[in-house]
Amino acid sequence: MHIGIIGCGQLARMLAQAGAPIGATFSFVVEPGADPTPVKGLGQQTPLRDCMTPAELYAALDNPSVITVEKEHVDVPLLEALSAFCRVAPNPQAVHITQNRSREKNFLNQLGIPTVGFAQADSEQALRTAAQQIGFPIIIKSEEAGYDGKNQWRIRSQADLDTFCAAQQHSALDLVVEQWVSFQAEVSMVAARNTQGEKTFYALTENRHQNGILLTSRVPAPHGSEALSQKAQHYLNTLLDALNYVGVLAMECFILGDQLLVNELAPRVHNSGHWTQQGSNTSQFENHVRAILGMPLGQADLRHHAAMVNLLGIEASAGQVASPQTTLHWYDKTCKPGRKVGHINIQDECGKTVDDKLNALLGVLYHEQTDA
Ligand code: AMP
Repeated sequence: MHIGIIGCGQLARMLAQAGAPIGATFSFVVEPGADPTPVKGLGQQTPLRDCMTPAELYAALDNPSVITVEKEHVDVPLLEALSAFCRVAPNPQAVHITQNRSREKNFLNQLGIPTVGFAQADSEQALRTAAQQIGFPIIIKSEEAGYDGKNQWRIRSQADLDTFCAAQQHSALDLVVEQWVSFQAEVSMVAARNTQGEKTFYALTENRHQNGILLTSRVPAPHGSEALSQKAQHYLNTLLDALNYVGVLAMECFILGDQLLVNELAPRVHNSGHWTQQGSNTSQFENHVRAILGMPLGQADLRHHAAMVNLLGIEASAGQVASPQTTLHWYDKTCKPGRKVGHINIQDECGKTVDDKLNALLGVLYHEQTDA
């Protein structure tokens, strides 16, 4: 059971760490400029070269039985070509849909899954028309290559839009314009589907972002409800079947009253599912491995209350954060400002204990003041 992963970051690392005990071995494609230290010692690394044919890449990966991804921005034609040699999971079509924000939102809407109001804009005129139709405030995002809050602009007024257009004058526009929603909370759900079509769903997770980057997750979601969880499960269930999806799929949403508006999909294990390493019987990483290898999925139930805090450009030692309720996951990366270098999982039977621990850690790590 050998798995090739396109990528060599922390998600590839945690997939390999979770897959080893169930008998899987791994090799990794190192894309140009990527830092392979997170997967050091976890399997063979293959640098991706322009001149390589898919057959050469497949052989360099040591003829895996499955190839998977740890991010959505991968070369889809390469994935399609690799499908001639082994299963590629998730399938290239699913990855293609999630690479482009408008394509993804259109796909969701066609399935009856709600998103924020949006319009595509490939010219200044289209941008101005979209802004008028949607109404300020809006958020402009690049269609592709935007993640962790990068390549997006909040536009509050016509004057803001004029300034934005003046700055963009000579660049090609490839944008999506979205209605800015004052949501009550951001939540996500992670699910897995295996090759036989068996599915499992993790608990609805509430997420807090800072500058567009995930800072904390908390389960069960404080702003969640049984009805919202059911809605999220229903949407994910529809998506998994519509895409004939194999592996873990993550769905990020805004809660707006009793509505759940889907903001983004990720065709991979997701940062908001890291709590599952300690908070669930089977982590999202193990279930992704099981799913793509065609094994029965493990239980995804929430064991107790759980939370996760990301280490963004800050070092933390096991000694500094150690407690019976906390587990440090360090990615062996060099610390740089804002870079995800690790995370800490917190779990306890008592919700207040988890909240207190989370607030204490935010205080120690980020000097955040809380009223708790
Ligand atoms: P994204 O790259 O789409 O995940 O956006 C990054 C973050 O920006 C989200 O997690 C939200 O906090 C915020 N955001 C994105 N889109 C919207 C929107 N349409 N309305 C309000 N906030 C948004």
